[in-house]
Amino acid sequence: MTYIRQAISASWRSYIQQAANSLARLILPPTCAVCKQAGDLLCSDCRSTLPRITVALCTRCGRSLASQADAYCQRCARQPLLLQQLRTPFFFEEPLSGIIHQLKYNGFFALAEPIAELMVDAWPEIVDNIDLLVPIPLHEKRQKKRGYNQAALLAHHLGQQWNLPVAENGLRRSRHTPPQVGLSLAERQRNVTGAFVVGDCSFDGQRVLLLDDVFTTGSTLTAATQTLLEAGAKFVWGYCAARAMRYQDRAELLTTIS
Ligand SMILES: [Zn+2]
Ligand SMILES: [Zn+2]
Repeated sequence: MTYIRQAISASWRSYIQQAANSLARLILPPTCAVCKQAGDLLCSDCRSTLPRITVALCTRCGRSLASQADAYCQRCARQPLLLQQLRTPFFFEEPLSGIIHQLKYNGFFALAEPIAELMVDAWPEIVDNIDLLVPIPLHEKRQKKRGYNQAALLAHHLGQQWNLPVAENGLRRSRHTPPQVGLSLAERQRNVTGAFVVGDCSFDGQRVLLLDDVFTTGSTLTAATQTLLEAGAKFVWGYCAARAMRYQDRAELLTTIS
């Protein structure tokens, strides 16, 4: 009963917060989510301070390379991801991590638009290589509670910019999975294996781009890719706004930069 009461009250809080945000946006000029200056949801000064990943990366998974002459990182050379390519233009660090938190948890869904604009600029090769955009779905219960799926919002903005179709319900969660935060890699893989089923879309021969807000270990994207490939997709690429990195990987990357 306590759980149900908490869920209902969280859901109402989310709706009220979204309504208040929408109303504020109608009445007031937009303000930057980072510096609060009026004019833009994410001003150009703050866009330039986002933690952009600029070093040479593995052409497959987007991790940093031990040697700039290599095409693949050591992990992909050993055991490549199911995804044919993966890109993450930013680190999941402030101020972007705060912006994504506002997008996901504070009902500030309009922030999907500036984030998508940044993603469009960061990977122009998409347009000629992809037929269909597919957002990683939330479980029905979680989406009801939040009111929207942030990955689907990103997909719609990107689809508009690239003029590519979006299969919002192309994948569905077959079961509720606990949040991945705090789980080890093996636990994350177990948590999401078989968690996706095909929804209202045919993937036969399609070149698919999977979209999500944050990439951590790749367990979720890999499970979704497995389902898409079994459904006949020609290949699957992945694109996430930000990459959460373990301290060790971040240190390795900074060594590569210097
Ligand atoms: Zn700003
Ligand atoms: Zn790699």
